[in-house]
Parts: sequence; structure tokens; C-alpha cells
Amino acid sequence: MSKPVILTGLRANNDLHIGNYFGALLPLIDMAKNRADEYEINLFVPDLHSFTTPIDHSTLYEQILHNVRLFAAAGLPLDHPNIHIYRQSYVPAHSELTWILDCFTGFGEMSRMTQFKDKSQKQASIDLANADDAEHHREVARELFRSTSVGLFNYPVLMAADILLYGATYVPVGDDQSQHLEFARDIAERMNSRFGELFTIPKPVKEQHEFFGKDQGLRIKDLVDPTKKMSKSDETGRGIIFLGDTPEAAAKKIMGATTDSVGLIHYDPQNQPGVTNLLQILALASSEPLDSVIDRFDGQTSYGALKEAVAGSLSQLLQGFQAKLSEVDEGALMAKLEADEKQMNETANATLLNVQKAVGLRI
Ligand code: ATP
Ligand code: MG
Repeated sequence: MSKPVILTGLRANNDLHIGNYFGALLPLIDMAKNRADEYEINLFVPDLHSFTTPIDHSTLYEQILHNVRLFAAAGLPLDHPNIHIYRQSYVPAHSELTWILDCFTGFGEMSRMTQFKDKSQKQASIDLANADDAEHHREVARELFRSTSVGLFNYPVLMAADILLYGATYVPVGDDQSQHLEFARDIAERMNSRFGELFTIPKPVKEQHEFFGKDQGLRIKDLVDPTKKMSKSDETGRGIIFLGDTPEAAAKKIMGATTDSVGLIHYDPQNQPGVTNLLQILALASSEPLDSVIDRFDGQTSYGALKEAVAGSLSQLLQGFQAKLSEVDEGALMAKLEADEKQMNETANATLLNVQKAVGLRI
């Protein structure tokens, strides 16, 4: 019996920020290191998912490789035989299986995906809740049709293909992705009941949470608007610390971070989200327990001193990370990518061939 597969990807639509680093990249690498002896770990860059919403295509190729380097710089072991890294578009079976699954997927089924509804509306810069008359409704519908791509509409099908091609059992999903995982299970069951055992059914969301430990819910906040989370697709980037920021640029963003007029430092996410965020970042960047950071600063009056402490430890973190990034062995990394992509093509093509046979495209 081959080992069960854990599969996860990180979208490459921009440089990663410290929220992605502490909230996703480091936990993912820890998971890979801890589980690699008992599981196959598939870590992929979902590059075909990068432009379901508009991006700068002139930088995409380099961005994808950059993200692979980030994995290596953050400590992913490149020499473990059960850890596989690959670029989705280098395994054409993802696109081919997507088309076949598309033809067994309901239009209504995709229309109900909440993330599609949110993102398409955000892109059309409109809010259906404000559409209170019939003419406004029609205007909204027209704008949605103009600005939303079919790629955004059916990307859950591509995500299902990403999972099913490798028979992945475990896929860590946040709340925003659980509906898509449920869809992957539905389409796999639908195909299996119609054509026989084609796919391994991934575990349901609840079991995913039990397996990975429910997401701790870490959310680093935007520095300019600490009521919302740091997001790499945010337009201005002023409230975001990117892993590629110089220590000086990062310090400037920290010193300019929005705080409040309370005048006393407290860990209070509701009433003092800016100060709370700074305490959180300081704890993570300096690897000091949050409680002890809070003990040190609670009740103090100088926000400037807190900001300087945050800027100092972030500067060290960024310098250390960027040094590791510059030391990534490019030759070894490319060799690993290419070898893994070859191996993943074999696995994925075997699944695809079974499906092609089932639907009558091959004998
Ligand atoms: P986008 O704006 O493109 O959605 P994002 O910054 O929200 O970018 P995602 O690609 O959506 O990043 O998420 C990548 C991973 O990073 C996910 O596991 C997500 O939970 C985690 N993550 C994203 N933002 C934060 C944050 N501010 N704090 C902690 N973790 C985060
Ligand atoms: Mg996001």
C-alpha cells in the first residue's frame, strides 16, 4: 500500500507577507517535516489559480519561482523523498481533468459557491445588499457578467482536480475553502457511483480539522487599518510587511502603524486592535511567548517604544530570512522541481487515463 497523501498549495499572486509566513508557511513546513515519514506530502504552487482575478502577467513566471524559493528559505527539506514540490501548470493533467469534471458539474452548483459570490461582487465593486430596486439589480447583474471570468467561476473544479489526481486524503482548508473541499468530495462520489472506483474520496472537513488541529485562527492585521487582516492582494501595500521588504521599509511601516488615542498599552483586540496587532507581531518576530510580551508592555504609555521594539525584531527576522533566501541553492531547487514534476506527471496521468477510459475517450 502506498502512503496516504497530504496535499496543499499556496497561491502565488504576490510576494508573501508576515501573516502568510507565520499563519501558513511556517505551520505548513512544520507539518511537512512531522508527517513526511508516514505520508506523501504534495506541496504545489497553484499557478493556474493565480489569475482567476487580474494580476500583472509580466511578473508571474518569476513570482512562481520566487514562491518556491520561499519554501526552501523557510526551511522545507528538499532532500526528503516523500516531500514533493511542483508547479501545477507543469502537470497538464490538472487542466485536462478539470474539463472532464466540468462536464459533470452543475452550473447551479458552482453559482452557490460563497467565495465566487464574494470575489465576483468585490471585483465588480458593488454590493448586492444595496441593490434595492429592479433597475439597480439589472445593472449589478450586467456588471457582474462583464467583470467576472469563467475561471473565477469554475476554479473549485480545478481545485477538485488538484486533489483527486493524486488521491489526496488530507487537505488543510480554512473556512473559506471548506465548501470547495465538500465539492471535491461530491464530484468524486458522483463520478465513482457512475463510472466505478476512479477516485479516492478526501476526508470531510471535520476530519481535516481533527487531523491538522483546527486552525489557530492567527490573523495578523493590516497596519493602516487594523480592523482588517493583512492581505497580499491589498492595493496599496502600505499596511503590509512583505518578506521582501528592506528592514528600513518595514520599520517605516511599523512606525507609521495606526494605533489609538487610549494612551496605554493593553492587549485588547476589540478596543485597541492596532496596539494588539503590534504586540502579536513582536511576539512572533522575536519568538517570545505572547504572554510574556504582554507582561512586559501592559500599562506602559509609550506607543513609540513598542513600535521601536517591533521594528527592531522584524528587522532581524527579515535580515535573517533574506539571507537564507539568497543562500537557496538554485541548482538544487530547480533539479528538485523538475524531478518532482516528472514524478507527479506519472501519478496524475495514471489517474487521468482511468478517467479518460471511463468516459470513453480511451480504451
Ligand atoms: P489574497 O489577498 O490574495 O487572498 P492573502 O494574504 O489573504 O492573499 P491567501 O493566499 O488568501 O493570502 O492565504 C494564504 C495563507 O495565508 C492561508 O493559509 C491563510 O490562512 C494565511 N493568511 C493569510 N493572511 C493572513 C494573515 N493576515 N495572518 C495570518 N495568516 C494569514
Ligand atoms: Mg486571502
